[in-house]
Amino acid sequence: MSEDSKFFLKDSDVPKQWYNLVADLKEPMSPPLHPGTKQPIGPDDLAPLFPMELIMQEVSQDRYIDIPKPVQEAYSRWRCTPLVRARALEKALDTPARIYYKYEGASPSGSHKPNTALAQAFYNKEAGIKKIATETGAGQWGTALSYAGAVFGIEIQVFMVKVSFNQKPYRKAIIESYGGSVVASPSELTNSGKAILAKDPNNSGSLGIAISEAVEVAATNDDTKYALGSVLNHVLMHQSIIGQEALLQMEMADDYPDIVVGCTGGGSNFSGLCNPFLGKKFRGEQDVHAIAVEPSSCPSLTKGTYSYDFGDTMKSTPLMKMHTLGSDFMPSPTHVGGLRYHGMAPMLSHLVHHGHVEPRAYGQKECLEAGIQFARTEGIMPAPEATHAIKGAVDEALKCKAEGKSKSILFNLCGHGHFDMQAYMDYFSGNLAEDSFDTKAFEESLSAIPAVN
Ligand SMILES: *Cc1c(COP(=O)(O)O)cnc(C)c1O
Repeated sequence: MSEDSKFFLKDSDVPKQWYNLVADLKEPMSPPLHPGTKQPIGPDDLAPLFPMELIMQEVSQDRYIDIPKPVQEAYSRWRCTPLVRARALEKALDTPARIYYKYEGASPSGSHKPNTALAQAFYNKEAGIKKIATETGAGQWGTALSYAGAVFGIEIQVFMVKVSFNQKPYRKAIIESYGGSVVASPSELTNSGKAILAKDPNNSGSLGIAISEAVEVAATNDDTKYALGSVLNHVLMHQSIIGQEALLQMEMADDYPDIVVGCTGGGSNFSGLCNPFLGKKFRGEQDVHAIAVEPSSCPSLTKGTYSYDFGDTMKSTPLMKMHTLGSDFMPSPTHVGGLRYHGMAPMLSHLVHHGHVEPRAYGQKECLEAGIQFARTEGIMPAPEATHAIKGAVDEALKCKAEGKSKSILFNLCGHGHFDMQAYMDYFSGNLAEDSFDTKAFEESLSAIPAVN
């Protein structure tokens, strides 16, 4: 075991290939289906939304895909990100466990999102696209894609979930500083937005609605494509550089994680860290226990059904086999905007379904408390989303203490919380809303899931 606490890599260690877990899966994944015919879609069905290079990555079975040089160069502006042993947190918990975190908040926009934003903007630019429309929950994705648009010269239009837009006024300023434009969703800019506002002028928005608006803009404009910040295979693959670096850094630490933990909104930061470790497990090289943590107010993995469902509220996307609360489900407006999605990455759902990943749900208050303990020990203010991973890691460390075991725990600190301080303000003023999960709305939403098979 290394005496050191921080493990830094060199620029030359920035991964030159993305890792695709699909190549190492034991059981094959279910393909996306056309919403009309219910038959598997082909690359041409996705062509109005994505450039062909990304579509080919989406269906690729290759274990590794080369990262283009301009994307590698952009990565090396901040990568590799640090891996840190949380010794102060270990001490505060009085645990025999060794806790490590991979710090993706060290990126320009403060989260793991630029890892895929830069790749997606690059391939769109190569394909001659002028503009990308997208959704954003907490604002991290809209921010990262706006930065990527600035790097590769593409216009970015962001639809930001209204409740977050109002909670996080600084997000607009950052997005505009990077050259992007942003509106609160549902908006008057699209037919989808107008239809939802006509029914409910006070609709607080959801990722499902914002996706519908962005997809509509891309589908109805020739020079515009759509980009998704999570969920899809190619996004999870772009994020694999997190875990690939962590493998090298754990080697420097002369340790290997028994447990890997990440929070899950759409599944990309969790998969980015954990998939390279799960690949080693599936290839019979090294075992690992993976834990995916979601909010109890939006519990797709722990309460949702594993079914074919739409990715958006207007039911316009292909059907994906995933854990879902139903595309009509409106999660209660908590502070974990990035985790308020009704569905989940099909690849992660597949892993959970086959018992390779343990899903867990926690309330936002207990997570923020774990985040505050982390801030008081390690010094970093975590994003509210990231506090779910911290809570998962802390619980495992306390279990080690109770059982007198010394395990190694690695979690993804996927972002800092400097633009999410309203969550902490509400916590300290006692105004944090209780987590709620509307069981009746959930059951209605479930019954609206299309029958396939
Ligand atoms: C977007 C985001 C998430 C949720 O998305 P995943 O695809 O599940 O990673 C979590 N944390 C932060 C900081 C984010 O920006």
